[in-house]
Amino acid sequence: MDNKIYLVNPRGFCAGVSRAISIVDTALERFGAPVYVRHEVVHNRYVVDSLRRKGAVFIEDLAEVPDGAILIFSAHGVPMSVEAEAKNRNLTVFDATCPLVSKVHVEVRALSKRGAEVIMIGHRFHPEVEATLGQYDNPDGGIYLVENAQDADRLQIRDPNNLYYVTQTTLSITESKTLVEHLRSLYPQIRGPRKNDICYATQNRQDAVRSLAHKVDLFIVVGSTSSSNSNRLRELAESCGCRAYLVDDESQLDEAWFAGGIGSIGVTAGASAPDILIERVVERLKAVTGYRPEEMPGIEEKRNFEIPKDLQRSL
Ligand code: SF4
Repeated sequence: MDNKIYLVNPRGFCAGVSRAISIVDTALERFGAPVYVRHEVVHNRYVVDSLRRKGAVFIEDLAEVPDGAILIFSAHGVPMSVEAEAKNRNLTVFDATCPLVSKVHVEVRALSKRGAEVIMIGHRFHPEVEATLGQYDNPDGGIYLVENAQDADRLQIRDPNNLYYVTQTTLSITESKTLVEHLRSLYPQIRGPRKNDICYATQNRQDAVRSLAHKVDLFIVVGSTSSSNSNRLRELAESCGCRAYLVDDESQLDEAWFAGGIGSIGVTAGASAPDILIERVVERLKAVTGYRPEEMPGIEEKRNFEIPKDLQRSL
């Protein structure tokens, strides 16, 4: 391909991230600072720092939230125990959990009620995974986290005829498919969601990177290291044979990456990376390489998730 900077589509903000940020912004507007947010509302340093400057206070433990305060749950969701704790403390809660994560929570709660055993495919310690595991509370069944085939091999399932799997929403599509196939080889009766739990934004961004990565020499993914879907985009580009780097912003671009006559460059961004950072990265790439940017065709995303009704009402 010509020496250009190819901008893949879709890239950047998804509907769940836009909604979560809008919930924090609206709560600050309506109630004033401080507004407490459990965990980084989305995994992006720039977004979190901007909201912090406006008066959002990010906490991990509800003990840090004063009585009578406003509390927002992050886009990744919370375990049922945290929801219960907030309720017991009479905190005013607005839930910024992405509706596509909540959908998985509903599945797990229903399976818990039935005492089915559930395998959760996801990354250990990720807040979305902890929240989903925390939807299960039936001692007659069980929920087990599986990150890889070795974890799956170690499982001791009580009733393979009553076994289900769910997944984190931001996994690598290829890797999760391989892992599901492995689970099926171990437990042929295992059942999964009718439609994959991996969300539309993850799917679309990975498809877009896959279609370009074989044709460029280098991929830049804009996103924070804490962002699961951004990391998966970088790994995917690398697995297609090009060098790939994850950067928070233009200051992390290293001129040495472009030395020695680099060919074309692909640019994408994780679902929590704002446009302003993508623009700044592209400007810097233009200055360093002298290449022109070009938008790639891609799926147009039309999803929009509204903020909670009770937060909308008094605007
Ligand atoms: S990446 Fe997917 S699951 Fe996560 S907030 Fe965006 S739409 Fe929701």
